This record gives sequence, C-alpha cells and structure tokens, in this order.
Amino acid sequence: MTRTSYSDEMTPKERMEAVLSGKPFDRIPCSINPSYHAAKLTGVKHWECYFSAEKIAEVQLASHQIFGVEAVITGPGLHGIAEAAGSTVVYPKEENSPYISEFAIQEEGDLGRLGIPNPWAKGRLPIHLTALQILMDRVGTEVPVTTNVAGPFTVAANLRGTETFLRDLYQTPVFAHRLLRYALESTLAYVQEAAKIGVKINIADPTASTSLISPRHFYEYAFPYLSELISQIKRLTGSAPSLHICGNTKKIWQHMADTGAGILSLDDTIDLADAKVTVGNRTALLGNVKPTATMFLGKPADVVREAKECLRKAYDNPKGYILALGCGLPMKAPVENVHALFQAARKFGRYPVNPESWN
Ligand SMILES: [Zn+2]
Repeated sequence: MTRTSYSDEMTPKERMEAVLSGKPFDRIPCSINPSYHAAKLTGVKHWECYFSAEKIAEVQLASHQIFGVEAVITGPGLHGIAEAAGSTVVYPKEENSPYISEFAIQEEGDLGRLGIPNPWAKGRLPIHLTALQILMDRVGTEVPVTTNVAGPFTVAANLRGTETFLRDLYQTPVFAHRLLRYALESTLAYVQEAAKIGVKINIADPTASTSLISPRHFYEYAFPYLSELISQIKRLTGSAPSLHICGNTKKIWQHMADTGAGILSLDDTIDLADAKVTVGNRTALLGNVKPTATMFLGKPADVVREAKECLRKAYDNPKGYILALGCGLPMKAPVENVHALFQAARKFGRYPVNPESWN
C-alpha cells in the first residue's frame, strides 16, 4: 500500500472547516468515498464490511492512506434506518449494491406496532456506531469523521416500498405524514448517538427527487421533515449537514437551502454555474463530475477535464465549493480515475485558483 504523493498545508479537517466558515484555505477539498476500491486494494471483501465495524474502519483508514480521502465515513445510508425498523435488506456478495427484499410496513396498521429502533441494538446501526468510534479514536483530530443518513422521505419509502408510498401521498395523506414522522424520529434516535461520538452528518434523500415527485409534493411531504432533521442535527453536532438529492433539483434549490443544509450536493444533470448564481450566496456547493459517463466509462484525462470544468464554474462560490461527483461512485469505476479526481483538486484547486493559467 503506497500513499499517493502530495503535499497539503492543512489537515482535511482544518481545510473543510475553513471552506465552510469563509476563512482562507490551501486548496479546494475533494469529497468522494472510494471504500469499495480501498477494500479491493487491501484484500478485504466488501461483503465482510457490511457486518464488521473493524473491517469498515480498516477500509476507511486504507482509503485515507491510498487515496488521501478527506473524510472517513460510514452510516446507515439509504436502507439502514428502515432495516433497523424491520425492512429486510439483501447484501449481494457480487459487485452489486444492497437492496430491500421486504418492507416493514405492508399495511397501515403495521406502523403502530413498530417502536423507535434502538441504535445500539437494531439492524446494522451498532456496527456503524462502533466503526465511527474507532475512526474517531484513530484519525478524528485530523480527518472529519462523518456518518450518512437518508432523509425522512427516503426512509419512509424504504419502510413502505417506493411505489406504495408514492400512492399513499395521494390516497392517505394523513397516514403518509404519520409514516414520515416515524421515519424522522427513528433517524433522530440514531443521529443522537452518532452526535455523542462527535461525528458530522451527511443526508441523502434520493426518493425526494423531483424526477419522482412534484415540487409541490416535495414542499408538503419532504421539506418539513428534512428541515426538522437538519435543525436537530445542528443542535446536536454544532454544524449544518450536507444534503444530496438526485436528478434535476433546480426547481427546489431554494427549498433545499431553506432546510438549513450547509452544503448542497448536486447531481450531474445540473449546471454548477447556474446553482452558484441561484443559491451560492446561501450554501456551499458540492459536485458534480458524472459518476457513470466519466468516472466509470471515461479515462483519467476525461476526469481531469471535467473536474477542471466544475472548478472553473464553482471555485468562487460565495459560500464555498467542494469538488465531488454528481452522485455515488460506481463500484466498477477504474482506480486510476479515483486518483485522477483527487489529483485534479490538489493541482487545479490550489489557491489562488486561476483557470486562465490552465491551458
Ligand atoms: Zn444522487
């Protein structure tokens, strides 16, 4: 295992804090989670990581060593809270993402039977909390330790089944709100424990995408619960979480900023220059190199070209900018492309950023 050669003047933690508080920093941070790649390079089977806090921590630390990742991360992600509440998640041994095979809430009456899941006892939540504690002890003074949770709308969909839940919005709105309230409370129970460890929080709410629901439904069903989650996270951790929603979110950017999120993580279908003008004076922006077309199918030169394009558009965002992908990193993206993205941040993101001098 060789560490990528690079020299930074700040620790990842100092850099991120500086970017988000408007203080001077050495270069644009790069946020990407190549844990699957790091597992492969260190000989850990990705499947084992699902069930072992030690393996999760080992792979995250390897990811920091090999790629220089600027935050270590583990968490319930999209399925974890729903799983702890009773949905069944399948973990394929092949290179596929986990998926839900059975939903906890088949009929309305099931909701009343579910208690708020104890984060130290249910599903894989104790594994994430234990791994976060290990990571905090090992690198917490220099590297941000973060946990990722789904937004309440996505948790509700994973308790109920997406299609059924989207039908509930029209047919049984009172029940839909009760379900969302339950999803929020269950997520907060986990967040409270994670906050005690001292970690930061990332939120992804892919089912609340305007590719799936109208902006009106977003405002009615996703926005209130996201806003409450975020204000509680601020109270518990002292900092505003990032918020990722897939697809073309332009119509809800102001709502997304109104939730109180500190960073908007935007999909590759949107134009960062447009986002900068529209919400850049309210939140930091994160994105948006294409995960499939570029990171998976492209060459390192393509990754660098697109990273430069993102930097050119957003490096001077008033509330800060973080170079990243538009969505999750595909498991099969070449390792060289992952290195290329980090190198682009180190080379072209160095302050003062000067796009004129690049060509
Ligand atoms: Zn996404």
